[in-house]
Amino acid sequence: MGANIFITEETIDGADDGPLAGKTVAVKDNLSTDGLRTTCGSAMLDEYVPPYDATVVEHLKDAGATIVGKTNMDEFGMGGTTETSAFGPTKNPVDEERVPGGSSGGSAAAVAAGKADLALGTDTGGSVRNPAAFCGVVGIKPTYGLVSRYGLIAYANSLEQVGPIGSTVEETAALLDVIAGADEHDATTRFDQTMDAHPAENSDYAAAADGDVDGMTVGVITDLLDGADDRVVETFEAAVSDLESQGAAVVEVSLDSLEHAVQAYYVIAMSEASSNLARYDGVRYGLSTGKEGNWNDVYADTREEGFGAEVKRRILLGTYALSAGYHDKYYKKAQDARAWIKQDFDEALAEADVLATPTMPVLPPKLGESLSDPLQLYLMDANTVPVNLANLPAISVPAGEADGLPVGLQLIGPKFGEETMIRAASAVEN
Ligand code: GLN
Repeated sequence: MGANIFITEETIDGADDGPLAGKTVAVKDNLSTDGLRTTCGSAMLDEYVPPYDATVVEHLKDAGATIVGKTNMDEFGMGGTTETSAFGPTKNPVDEERVPGGSSGGSAAAVAAGKADLALGTDTGGSVRNPAAFCGVVGIKPTYGLVSRYGLIAYANSLEQVGPIGSTVEETAALLDVIAGADEHDATTRFDQTMDAHPAENSDYAAAADGDVDGMTVGVITDLLDGADDRVVETFEAAVSDLESQGAAVVEVSLDSLEHAVQAYYVIAMSEASSNLARYDGVRYGLSTGKEGNWNDVYADTREEGFGAEVKRRILLGTYALSAGYHDKYYKKAQDARAWIKQDFDEALAEADVLATPTMPVLPPKLGESLSDPLQLYLMDANTVPVNLANLPAISVPAGEADGLPVGLQLIGPKFGEETMIRAASAVEN
């Protein structure tokens, strides 16, 4: 059956010239493409054809890129292995018995397998960085508000950003240059009040990949090393000492709030998801089962058939967390934890220019190995979700291999500090 990287393979040509002329780009299947099926990896949207392009897709076309297809993903972005897709799992090109990570597993695999020069993914809690790490490529999760979400089919709006994936830091940063910017269709791309323009206007992300870490301070988040696989930690530490030998100062930082990050993330993500996914009623959106009866029965049939098990689990838990009587116990607590995590990051980033962690605490699991235990899957996100809760930028860059499998190093920057983070990541490649 092949590696199952694409859900729909179709070529869309962009403008004749531009910064991405001659480049092929694979696009995650939750980004709307005018006239081209966009499924979100779900049976619910099996036949959905958007009537417009997402803003990031428009930017790709204007930049001269050739879109080569829509990539496989965990259903609605809910997962970390691409195994919750209604279209079957994607295989990791590095080792076909293993998962490519997720939820943007098809996008990272497309780049790793040479099926596309570049790719777009989306990152709600790690979905660009996780598959980049597992497939041995580079992935960036931008600061919230740097890139338009218009035309991204929502999973959890307050957390997600579209992010670029590529083989090198410089190429990935060049794709960020193309997609970043203010968009009148997305009010969250409003520029920071302290700046007089959108941060992308005065930035050159590709040029920042100059490998110069001399004098930079890198803060290692010690809390996120404790639970990680020893082989991952060893590879991570070797990459950090390499940065030190290039002139970076390495310090240790500890953020007490991080022990609550996974819990807070899943309460918030599931709550937002339960609200976003209410629109799939088989009338306005989503699978029509053709059954007849009263509205309730038809609605229930659509959702029973259209959604997979993980999506149903999250709608149920999210609805529960938001329900009257439980709202303060879960949703409000999670928001408090989120505020605490933001504050902890601000303090740590006052001491260091960038923060470093292993992107994933584990090596890529074998296909089928982790799917049966959702809690195990959620814990895999321990190092990536804090960044989304704090709305900060982060990059995953290949740090080396352990047992022949790729290990990713994550660098977290300050708000709109993409250039610093990209500079440090390019030194990891040296
Ligand atoms: N694995 C996380 C989740 O399932 C992150 C997914 C994502 O970033 N879309 O929610």
